[in-house]
Amino acid sequence: SAKANGRNGTHLFDPKAPQTDNEDRNLAIIVAQAVERDLLSLVYQPIIDVSTNEVHAVEALMRLRDIDGMTIAPSAFIPVAERTGAIVQLGRWAVRRACSEILARGLAPKVSVNVSAFQLREASFPLFVAGVLAEFGLEPSTLALEITEGFDIASDSTVIQAVVALRRAGVEVWLDDFGTGYAGLSWLQAVDFTLVKIDQRFLQACETEDGARFLQDILTLVNNRGLTVVLEGVETAAQLAFLKKFGVRLAQGYHLGRPCASDMLSAVKAPAKAARAR
Ligand code: C2E
Ligand code: MG
Ligand code: MG
Ligand code: MG
Repeated sequence: SAKANGRNGTHLFDPKAPQTDNEDRNLAIIVAQAVERDLLSLVYQPIIDVSTNEVHAVEALMRLRDIDGMTIAPSAFIPVAERTGAIVQLGRWAVRRACSEILARGLAPKVSVNVSAFQLREASFPLFVAGVLAEFGLEPSTLALEITEGFDIASDSTVIQAVVALRRAGVEVWLDDFGTGYAGLSWLQAVDFTLVKIDQRFLQACETEDGARFLQDILTLVNNRGLTVVLEGVETAAQLAFLKKFGVRLAQGYHLGRPCASDMLSAVKAPAKAARAR
């Protein structure tokens, strides 16, 4: 089967394992029923200001429990949801849940929710987001939406208009996994992002001199455009020291905090406070 032992003793579908059409269909059925059958949850990973050790925001990451109670990784079910169109329903669920679970309870100053570019093709999405913010009486700037350059949205006027509407409503729009999508730099020019998350592969590549120079070049580009930067995938103390040396303030990764359920968020903040006291 395509199931493998994942982190934290959970079982994850291995997205690289060949899937039969049957498995794909089963997954599509689970995805279609996910909201109704309460199979979804969000875990949250802190984005840390490494100059103060404060939590700048938490990123909401979706988990799907299948009928047997196993956890399915987003890399397996998000592409299926995008193919079937269920992503629209899943994505709305995530925005509402993150707002109620984190912001309405004051568990973090800001929450970022991943949004598929497909969701932005839905003209009513910005109105939905504004409705959720109003429902919970939230300051719009406490919500950020992370978009990955999944397809060439820079030339999709519906998507661009959705981003404009969201920015007008005061919501932050972040570019996720910068440097990995095929539309690349045109996005950065076409869309009014507030922040750019630089994919973990660029930090990993810093072990070589050329890799380090390349990251420096990316940072220069992003900084010159007046954008805030988050470095993703900080796994070691050496990488943390490295990004500090580069003047990067915001970072995320297993070394700084693993994704966890919302009830554990005070535990996420605790080590940060301890580190500051030292
Ligand atoms: P992403 O938005 O770039 O999220 C970062 C991924 O890297 C997460 O995987 C996170 O658990 C993992 N990660 C965090 N720190 C480290 C680290 O130090 N090292 C390594 N190797 N990995 C780290 P996850 O939760 O499996 O999510 C994978 C992707 O699925 C996300 O990438 C995002 O693109 C997508 N996704 C997750 N939740 C949602 C959602 O609600 N909606 C949509 N549309 N996509 C989602
Ligand atoms: Mg993300
Ligand atoms: Mg992403
Ligand atoms: Mg990312």
